[in-house]
Amino acid sequence: MLFADVVLPLPVDHPFTYEIPSDIKVVVGSRVLVPFHKQKKVGFVIALHDRGGHHPLKKIEALPGPPETDLSPSYLEWLIWASHYYLAPLGEVLATALPSPFFKLDPRQSLPQKKSRSSPLADHWVHEKEVVLNDEQQKVFLQIRDNVFSGEFKPILLHGVTGSGKTEIYIHLIHEIIRSGKQVLYLVPEIGLTPQIVARLRHHFGEKLALYHSGLTENQRLREWLRVKSGTAVLLVGTRSALFGPFCNLGMIIIDEEHDSSYKQEERFRYQARDLALVRGKMEKIPVLMGSATPSLESYFNAKNKKYLFYSLTNRPEASAFPKITLIDMTVEKRQSGSPLILCRELHQAIADTLNRREQVLILFNRRGFAVSHFCLACQKGVVCPHCSVVLPYHKKQNILLCHYCDASQTLTSVCPSCGSSQMTLIGSGTETLEGELKTFYPQARINRLDRDSVQKKGALLSVLKDLREGKIDILVGTQMIAKGHDIARVTLVGVVGIDAVLGVPDFRSSERCFQLLTQVAGRAGRGTMPGKVIVQSFNPKHFSIKAVDDHAFDRFYEQELKWRSELGYPPYGRLIDIRFFSPDSGKIQHFIKWLFVQLPSLSIHETKILGPAPSPIEKLRGRYRWHLVLKGTSPSALRQTALKILSLRDQGGFKGIKWAVDVDPINML
Ligand code: ADP
Ligand code: ZN
Ligand code: ZN
Repeated sequence: MLFADVVLPLPVDHPFTYEIPSDIKVVVGSRVLVPFHKQKKVGFVIALHDRGGHHPLKKIEALPGPPETDLSPSYLEWLIWASHYYLAPLGEVLATALPSPFFKLDPRQSLPQKKSRSSPLADHWVHEKEVVLNDEQQKVFLQIRDNVFSGEFKPILLHGVTGSGKTEIYIHLIHEIIRSGKQVLYLVPEIGLTPQIVARLRHHFGEKLALYHSGLTENQRLREWLRVKSGTAVLLVGTRSALFGPFCNLGMIIIDEEHDSSYKQEERFRYQARDLALVRGKMEKIPVLMGSATPSLESYFNAKNKKYLFYSLTNRPEASAFPKITLIDMTVEKRQSGSPLILCRELHQAIADTLNRREQVLILFNRRGFAVSHFCLACQKGVVCPHCSVVLPYHKKQNILLCHYCDASQTLTSVCPSCGSSQMTLIGSGTETLEGELKTFYPQARINRLDRDSVQKKGALLSVLKDLREGKIDILVGTQMIAKGHDIARVTLVGVVGIDAVLGVPDFRSSERCFQLLTQVAGRAGRGTMPGKVIVQSFNPKHFSIKAVDDHAFDRFYEQELKWRSELGYPPYGRLIDIRFFSPDSGKIQHFIKWLFVQLPSLSIHETKILGPAPSPIEKLRGRYRWHLVLKGTSPSALRQTALKILSLRDQGGFKGIKWAVDVDPINML
């Protein structure tokens, strides 16, 4: 073969062809140095052939090595599949998958000489309990183990109520796989939020564990990568990007909390790590174990249709019982109590009782449902961010209006920006109001807060979690972050406020999210031997997703939601591709959309419904106007064909200032 197609880490849809000099031996997967315009670039060979074309081509200059940085053909094949499926340029897929030093001349040069401590995360979380599986766990463990060594692709869904011992089962399985000489990939949603998991795994697997997450520098990422490639690390634990680890001998993939939305990457190469892990598992003929207390509708559906093996754990080994859930109808509460307080009487009473017993309280508040805004009484409008189409929340400490999307801030004005009236007032209640209420009622209590703002400082998150664990916090107030994975025995009361806002999001997944969030946060209560209690405040307590959590009616929720999805053709019954358009210029984008509207009927399209073009629910974000087209259908390939036809319009019409983005299987339509 005389020529090689080389992919460079660029967002272009095609490879570049180079001549292979006679003294260089390249194969598919070779990492090569090539001239590109006036520069030199590092890329990967994806094909060899004899078709040089008419013009003399540039030559591959060198194999910069080392050989560990070449890609195996099967790995490359998997990435090529991903590039087709997600309609993403292969160069962008490679740039996402590989640590960035790969695209430098000698990646090893960038490795620090001394080994930096690989993870400060786990230090405080020593977990020394040796667990003997109980009967229920043992049974599930044995059944899964039988499938794990079958030498076939086996997708397995493990539904286990919160605290039922899913992680223990993973650990037992990992031991077995490692003993058989193979490697394991263990995906978790967000490592920073769940340092306990890492500590537990470190305790078991010590130096054999490699860690991969967004907190690593690119060089640390490279180091862990090479440890996995060489086989010195047999267990790779990490967030979604760990999916791209270069295993030489992968034996199993575990996806913890498979329903979690952080498995979806929402920029550039938009992939869903769970789905791509299943594809990898299929190619490698290995089991893929997905676990959750609240599976995604997609996975539940696949299990129901026997596409996945399904096992469940229904008990908590240690706790006496599940936390008791009490639903408070806030319309009634407001009428009866007439009080302006955020928390209802029952929750206040429960907090007081819990503090008296020296136990701990978590309060989940939903940011969306919890904001003070600067509001005009004359025109009934809140002050909107100049760059985003959202009403700005008020931050009391700094006395400003601050946009959570673009960070723009504004001081309060006395005149309404919409109508010029001077009847401006602050309305609503926010985090600070809630904290204030708690401080007034429980002056002795140690109260802390966990949300994206409060953990911006490095180490802040860990220190809050550590304090909680060590009993130095009595009441922790927080966003969804507090619902994830924490296993703290002295937390016996969970309060939930503002859950209704989750249902108010204009997205077909809002009921699913509400159900998952409520179930997960309720699962934080009573994980030790002391009984737990959950109090949920809602203005909409009859909603089926809330009611189902209250009744512990897992199947009922899924069946009802599936019925609705099937009527509307939404996933898991149908598939979606979201094509988005952005421009900072509203006139330009309107003009473009009109043009697009005229073009669409001329494309011959099969088995696809095109919804839109329509403005995105958040029409303006960070200064850009946003429109989108949603493609809906049951055949993924027909859907992709349609998307390609629409994408082929990209270079027509001369619309320079319009940016496009394609999201296959979108999970966030805002
Ligand atoms: P999940 O992953 O389902 O939330 P975990 O594996 O984290 O559950 O288990 C919850 C808690 O119960 C952990 O502290 C774990 O060590 C403990 N645990 C699980 N199984 C057993 C068991 N058989 N005996 C004693 N403790 C157990
Ligand atoms: Zn006004
Ligand atoms: Zn903004």
